[in-house]
Amino acid sequence: MPIVPLLPIFHRLDREHFDSSLTFQSQPHLAVRWSDGRLRKTAGFYRHIPKFLEPDEYEIVLSRPLLELLPQSAIESTLCHEMIHAWIHLVLKQKESHGPLFKAKMASINSSQSKFQVSLRHKFPVPQKPPRWWAVCPLCGLKSAYFRKVRGAACRQCCQNFYGGNWHSSCLLIYEPALKKS
Ligand SMILES: [Zn+2]
Ligand SMILES: [Zn+2]
Repeated sequence: MPIVPLLPIFHRLDREHFDSSLTFQSQPHLAVRWSDGRLRKTAGFYRHIPKFLEPDEYEIVLSRPLLELLPQSAIESTLCHEMIHAWIHLVLKQKESHGPLFKAKMASINSSQSKFQVSLRHKFPVPQKPPRWWAVCPLCGLKSAYFRKVRGAACRQCCQNFYGGNWHSSCLLIYEPALKKS
C-alpha cells in the first residue's frame, strides 16, 4: 500500500513556515521518514542521534500505522509539530520541548493558514489492537474483551446481583482465546 512521500511536504512546510531554515541548498538538515509498523505509542517524534567521530544525526519519524489511514491534514499537523521541535533545537539552538518558543511558533503557524492545526499533543485515534481473550461469565453469559487473563476475576454484575457484591466462585470468568486459528 503506497504511503505519501514525506519530503515534498517537509520542503513545503519549511518554505512556508520556517523561512527555509531547516534546509541548506535544498538539502534537509535532518532525515524525515516513516516508521515501520511498530511505532504505535506516538504519532511522531524528533530525535538527535549523537555520533562518535562523525557528524551527529537528526531525524523526524512519523508513525505509519497511526497516520497512514488518516487524512493528509493529520500528517501535515504531525510533521509540522516535529519540525517545530527540530527548528528550536537546530536553528534557535535552544533546549525546550513544549515551552514558550514552541507555543509561540505553533500559534503563529495555526493563525497563518487553515489547512491543518498543530496541537501540543498528537491527538489521533489509536487503532485498538484486537483482544487476545474473551472472558465469559458462566452465569449470565456476558462476554468481555481482555488483553491478558486476570486470575480469579469474577463477573462483577453477577456478584452484585446474586451475592450482595461479594466475590463468588460460581461466576468466575472463563477465558476463551479470541484469535482462533482457522
Ligand atoms: Zn512535541
Ligand atoms: Zn455474570
